[in-house]
Amino acid sequence: MANVKEKLSLDTYKIGKETHLIVDQELCKKCSNKCCLWICPAGVYTQKETGEILVDFEACLECGTCLIACENGAIKWAYPKGGTGVQFKYG
Ligand code: SF4
Repeated sequence: MANVKEKLSLDTYKIGKETHLIVDQELCKKCSNKCCLWICPAGVYTQKETGEILVDFEACLECGTCLIACENGAIKWAYPKGGTGVQFKYG
């Protein structure tokens, strides 16, 4: 039986032209927790040396975890435009 990582590797993505995840960098600067960096199962969020949060929206699994977890409301979240985003092999 395949583990979760193996199952996720079977997912495919139709990449849209525009991000569906927008981070308010000013709110992020005030955040000491930055849970987005470790809570996202797809590793979408990374931080530059300057402190800026980078968003690799193409890898998003659309789980909504970051939206709920960000205690500062710094993430503006929407589903990708119709016909784009992740396509799960195992529902
Ligand atoms: Fe990561 Fe889920 Fe947020 Fe997408 S919705 S960026 S997979 S935590």
